[in-house]
Amino acid sequence: MKNSDSVWDFVEAKREAFFALSDRVWDAPETNYEEFGACEEHTRLLTEEGFRVERNVAGLPTAVMGEAGEGGPVIAILGEFDALPGLSQEAGVAEERPLVSGGNGHGCGHNLLGSGSMMAAAAVKDFLAANGLKGRVRYYGCPAEEGGSSKGFMVRAGVFDDVDVAISWHPAAFSGVNNPISLACNELNFHFSGRASHASATPHLGCSALDAVELMNVGANYMREHMPSSARIHYAITDAGGAAPNVVQARATVRYLIRARTLTELLSLVARVKKIAEGAALMTETTVRSEVVSGDANLVGNTPLEECMFANLQRLGPPAFDAADNEAALKFQQTFSPEDIAASYRASASSRRRGRRCAISSIRSAAAMARSSARPMLVRSAGSSRPFRCVALPMRSARQAIPGNWSPKASCRPHTRAWNMRPRSWRARRLT
Ligand SMILES: [Zn+2]
Repeated sequence: MKNSDSVWDFVEAKREAFFALSDRVWDAPETNYEEFGACEEHTRLLTEEGFRVERNVAGLPTAVMGEAGEGGPVIAILGEFDALPGLSQEAGVAEERPLVSGGNGHGCGHNLLGSGSMMAAAAVKDFLAANGLKGRVRYYGCPAEEGGSSKGFMVRAGVFDDVDVAISWHPAAFSGVNNPISLACNELNFHFSGRASHASATPHLGCSALDAVELMNVGANYMREHMPSSARIHYAITDAGGAAPNVVQARATVRYLIRARTLTELLSLVARVKKIAEGAALMTETTVRSEVVSGDANLVGNTPLEECMFANLQRLGPPAFDAADNEAALKFQQTFSPEDIAASYRASASSRRRGRRCAISSIRSAAAMARSSARPMLVRSAGSSRPFRCVALPMRSARQAIPGNWSPKASCRPHTRAWNMRPRSWRARRLT
């Protein structure tokens, strides 16, 4: 047994407190910069664990950071605790049974994610202290992973500038070290404005913003042939202007999500999509205004760190499942099609091919937590489950993903209250 194996004992020693934290976060799901309760829960446990706590990290009311140790390298373990809209679900049952119809729920395990990461940070803290080692470990509680890009704002504010190693993970259908495949992405709204008119009596007097949106989408679809095959473009019409077909729609909004392998590729693609929007406006005699909603740089991996984690996973071995675990798993498995299951194996196999399967202590704790609480954390998302990530964040390049004047208030999705509807709330929380 290596000396460092004792860190696993520190994980086990505190498991119950972190299982309970995960359960509390599960019980009160909050989305996208609204995670006030979850952030408070994480902050309280950080304080109890003796971390030096910093609230309102990067000016984000639901971001928190706790640091322990002195000198040495800075190890950052990143966690998240935001839920998803519409995924309210009773715990422990394999069929869809919302607690609140249309309510929020933890569909991809973020109740485990923050808790597991903080548990790992607490174990590292205890290990450093017990062995008199120099080094600092930090837990970063990062809000709004699901569409709010909080880490981008945190990078921009420089909160990771002195970090030597950044580790994150995500619940998934298999245990492993994931290849750092996560595309750079940018979400933008395109607001078209035209002129309303009666669509039958005076159609010649109208300029249709809805036509502009449709033409923009046609243009973007024609562009697909001429963009890198790894890039992706998705769109949703978030405002069609109205429900009456006998009105020429004076306003319409389409939201684009553009993804590419690198930031350079992404930014050039965004520029082309903007030209298509301008072209659509020209064709329809409307005007267009674009607005950034969120953005992320692609992940940049750290091969030596990944290999180190892989070696540790092999030493640690897989989680032990008992008959009750298998019985619960079978119930969930039966809710998936063979294609869903095959897709998760393919993700696992592609990671294995590159020889980077691995785990960290937080993964072990999270697996144990998943078993103990027997909750359907992947009930809606296992078909597209994302494997664990073990990455060094691309600190410098990430900055370019976010314009300097861009604030998180633009990042609220339509499914939450629009940020500009609650500026006082934002300010009040910032000042307290
Ligand atoms: Zn997730």
